Amino acid sequence: MTQLPLDVPTDLFIGGEWRAASGGDRIDVTDPADDSLLARIADATAEDATAALDAAVAAKQEWAETAPRTRSDLLRATFEAVMDSADELALLMTLEMGKPLAESKAEVTYGAEFLRWFSEEAARVGGRHGVRPEGGADMVVRPYPVGPCLLITPWNFPLAMATRKLGPALAAGCTVVIKPATLTPLTTLAVVAMMERAGLPAGVVNVLTSSSASKVSKPLMADPRLRKVSFTGSTEVGRILLEQAAPKVLRTSMELGGNAPFLVFDDADLDTTVTAAMQAKFRNVGQACTAANRFLVQRGIAEELTARLKDAVDELVVGRGTDEGVTIGPLVDDDTVAKCVELTEDAVSRGAKVLCGGEAVDGPGHFMQPTLLSDVPPDARICAEEVFGPVLPITVFDTEEEAIAMANDTEFGLTSYLCTSDMVRARRVTDALEVGMVGINIGVLSNAAAPFGGVKQSGLGREGGVEGIAEYQALRYTLTPL
Ligand code: NAP
Repeated sequence: MTQLPLDVPTDLFIGGEWRAASGGDRIDVTDPADDSLLARIADATAEDATAALDAAVAAKQEWAETAPRTRSDLLRATFEAVMDSADELALLMTLEMGKPLAESKAEVTYGAEFLRWFSEEAARVGGRHGVRPEGGADMVVRPYPVGPCLLITPWNFPLAMATRKLGPALAAGCTVVIKPATLTPLTTLAVVAMMERAGLPAGVVNVLTSSSASKVSKPLMADPRLRKVSFTGSTEVGRILLEQAAPKVLRTSMELGGNAPFLVFDDADLDTTVTAAMQAKFRNVGQACTAANRFLVQRGIAEELTARLKDAVDELVVGRGTDEGVTIGPLVDDDTVAKCVELTEDAVSRGAKVLCGGEAVDGPGHFMQPTLLSDVPPDARICAEEVFGPVLPITVFDTEEEAIAMANDTEFGLTSYLCTSDMVRARRVTDALEVGMVGINIGVLSNAAAPFGGVKQSGLGREGGVEGIAEYQALRYTLTPL
C-alpha cells in the first residue's frame, strides 16, 4: 500500500468517534495513475447512515445555539490547519484524483478559502427589520439554521467541493452528514480529522463512505429529521435526489453538470484567448463542471486561433500528476477515458478533423491524449454532452446571433466564457446567455466570494459568496404591534 503523506482516518466518523462500518466491509481507494492501493476505507451500511443522522440530530440544538464567533473560530482554525498541511494535502489529492501537483496546490488554496470566507460570514449573519407598510407594527426577519443536512460531493475537486458545503453549513449553525465520492474520499476524511483536532463538537460533522451511495442516502432522504440535501454531481443523480426530496418537500441545493460554451469573437486578443482557453479546457485534466466543453469561434479569427491552440496543446505533458513538469494527469477512471474517445470518434464520423491526440494512452493508469478537434459540426455529440476530459472541439460561426443561439442550445446553464475586446458586445452577449456564470476574457471563474451556480438543468441554488450561507438558513418573520 502506498504511504500516504499525512495521517488519514479510514473509518466512518459518527457522533465524534471514528468507527468501522457495522457490516465490517472495506472499499479499496486506488491511484488513477497506476491503480495502486492507497487505502481501504469503511463501507457504511444503511444502519450506519441512520446512526450518523441520529448523531447530527442529537447535536443540532446545541450547535445552533453556539455563539457565531465560536463557529467562526472553528472554521478559522480548520483553515489554518489545512494551510499548514498544504503540501501534504495537495499530494494526497493528486494521489487519489490524479491531477498535477501544482493544480492540487491551487485547489488547497481555493478550497481552504471557503473555510476562511465562511468563518468571516458566520459572525456577520444579519436579518432585517422595519415597519409594515400599513404602519402600527414592527416587522423582524431573522435567519436560523435549517437543521441537519446531508452533503453529497463529487470526486473531481476533493477538497473544494467539501469545504464549499461544510463552510456555510457550519457557519449557519447546521449539523451535517457528509458523503464524499467513493473514488476520492481521503481528502474529506483528512479535513474532518483536522476539524476534530480544532475542537469540533461530537455529532456536528459526521462522515459516511460507502460503495453504494444510494444505500446510505436513500434512508436519510426519507427520514423526516433530515432538513436539507446539498448535492454536487451529475444532473442524472441530481434528478434522482430531487425525486426523493419531493415527498417530504425537502429543501435542496443542486450543483449539477455543465456544457460550457467558449465564445471567441473576431476582435478578441489572441494571447488572452489562448491563455483563457487552455485554462478553461485543461484545468483539472478537463474534469470540471465549469470546463469549456465547446469552442465557438468566429470565422475571421478561427484559422489563426486554431493554429495557436495547436501549438499550446502540443506543449502539454501527459504523465503522473506527481512528476515534475506534468500538465495532464490521468483521468479518474477507464469510463471517463472511454467517453472521451467515443465523443472524439463520433465528431470525426461527422466530419471533424483531429489536429492533436485523439486516442487513449496505453496503461497502466487511465490516460487520454490531449486532443484538439477542428470543423466540429454543432450536431456532434461532443457539443451536447459533458466531455469531462482533455478534448477541445472547435466549431466555427459567422454572426453574433448564431453564436448565442448555439451557446444556448443545451439543457445545461452553468458557465459560459467569451473573448472579445469590445466591452459593449461583451455586455450584450452576456445578457443573452442562459447561464449562471460568465467569464469575460478569463478561463477560471471560481472563488470563495462568488455565488457559484447555474440555471436550467445545471442546478438550483448558489454556493460561496454572501449568498452561500443563505442556502443553510430558514427565515422566521415576526410582527409585533407598536
Ligand atoms: P455523480 O456520479 O453524480 O456522483 C456525485 C456524488 O453522488 C458521489 O458522491 C456519488 O457517490 C453520489 N451518488 C451517485 N449516485 C447516487 C445516488 N443514486 N444517490 C445518492 N448519491 C449518489 O457525479 P461525479 O461523477 O462524482 O461528478 C461529476 C459530475 O459532477 C459532473 O456532471 C460535473 O459536472 C458535476 N459537478 C458539478 C459541479 C457544480 O458545482 N455544478 C461541481 C463539480 C462537479 P459515489 O462516488 O459512491 O458514486
